[in-house]
Amino acid sequence: MPEHLPSKPSKPPQALALPLQRNALLSALDSALENSDASNFLTALAIIDVRDFSELNRSFGNECGNAILAEINQRLEQLPNETFLHHYLGNDEFGIVLPQLKSPGFAVICAEQILALFKGVFEWQNHTLKITINMGIAYNYAQHLESSKLLLDAELALKQAKTSNLPYSMLGKNEQQSSDQLKWELLNNLHVAMQEDELELYYQPKLCIKSDKGDGDNKSRQASRYAEALIRWPTVDHGLIAPDITIPLIEHLGSELDLINWLVNTALKHLSETDAHHDCGVSVNIPANSVTSKALYQLIEQALQMWDVEPNRLTLEITEDVLIKDKELAFDYLSKVRETGVRVSIDDFGTGYSSLAYFKHIPADELKIDRIFVKNMLHNEGDRNIVKLIIDLAHAFKLDVVAEGVEDNHTLDLLKSMGCDYAQGFLISHPIPYKDYLLWLKEKPEF
Ligand code: C2E
Ligand code: CA
Ligand code: CA
Repeated sequence: MPEHLPSKPSKPPQALALPLQRNALLSALDSALENSDASNFLTALAIIDVRDFSELNRSFGNECGNAILAEINQRLEQLPNETFLHHYLGNDEFGIVLPQLKSPGFAVICAEQILALFKGVFEWQNHTLKITINMGIAYNYAQHLESSKLLLDAELALKQAKTSNLPYSMLGKNEQQSSDQLKWELLNNLHVAMQEDELELYYQPKLCIKSDKGDGDNKSRQASRYAEALIRWPTVDHGLIAPDITIPLIEHLGSELDLINWLVNTALKHLSETDAHHDCGVSVNIPANSVTSKALYQLIEQALQMWDVEPNRLTLEITEDVLIKDKELAFDYLSKVRETGVRVSIDDFGTGYSSLAYFKHIPADELKIDRIFVKNMLHNEGDRNIVKLIIDLAHAFKLDVVAEGVEDNHTLDLLKSMGCDYAQGFLISHPIPYKDYLLWLKEKPEF
């Protein structure tokens, strides 16, 4: 460039949403690659990019764009930080190092976990925004691969995902694999697992913490020893796969009712095998779109007869949004199921936007306070007030209250002092296999 020409005026610097972490990403990648060269594990790199981000900035302004990036960063923090090392790369890109993968397929499970973070809408001022992403994934298919090569491959895969309008795409040794191909493999494996009865039920106890354990309004309906059944898919290559991945895949297969049938029958079989005193209960999660299916109620009735279990020892956990979306129909179905004696619990309560008016006729026996409020209640007055409000509201309508996500003794004590009825969370027990749950029942640890 001739010297007398002025250089291009630089744009005024814009406030960044987050600190740039490109170097931190490269050093995390370098050390993951080093470890992986010394072991049998693989390292993958996923790069995510927000779809239509410039349009979002144009329509709502940079302040909105920055708020969305900050929220994405927060959502990424919810992933376990030993397996997902996330870094902001500038613009609308984040890089996530996935160390210690047992096989390339495991990267797909990680990709599904990342995608699941974008299911919920984003709120900005009074706008509700649906944010979608594209993701490019690359892994070290050979020893001594440089981090710069992985970065390049992940960017190439991202480009492919964007041009083909796919949620993710992976670049491996031989060729690019689309999310469709990868998902198909996973679906196929899950289908076989369901056919071969390879899914497992884990149990997480709900501990009774009411000071007056005797004559609550719901006493006749509620079993004194009680646990939530949670599904796990054990796989040789990827270890135990969590329901956040499995359930959407099962829905994709159109096999929700097969799953519920297996779930209810397995849970009731376990109850009838072990519960000589008839004082144990179990709750199962029912996905939103099955609540208004007639077949659901038939299969529950058959299962109760088959295993000769009293209906009040079975609880159906249903998320709050079901009652908001198809209110009339859902109220109708749930009222009928309650007439048979089966209990109904409203799960993740507080995260939907239900109106107070519906409480008057709510067809439920129990509310479960979402762990998002319980987690911060010691330090956040707003969350503490919400928890207290839900407990009082529930009691005013003669419902039991369960607090989810109880992880420490101080929170447990505070919940007791607020009059909460049941506590569930890692402090009491992680979800454990059936045989370990039997031991837990025998030992009855004190809290
Ligand atoms: P959920 O119904 O809210 O279940 C509780 C989840 O919270 C479980 O995750 C459990 O491991 C986790 N959790 C329990 N205590 C704590 C704690 O103290 N701290 C934290 N951070 N987490 C805690 P999991 O087992 O991965 O289940 C995730 C979700 O998958 C469940 O959320 C439920 O909605 C769904 N799910 C699980 N099993 C089934 C099933 O058989 N059918 C259907 N439809 N959904 C299921
Ligand atoms: Ca639940
Ligand atoms: Ca829940």
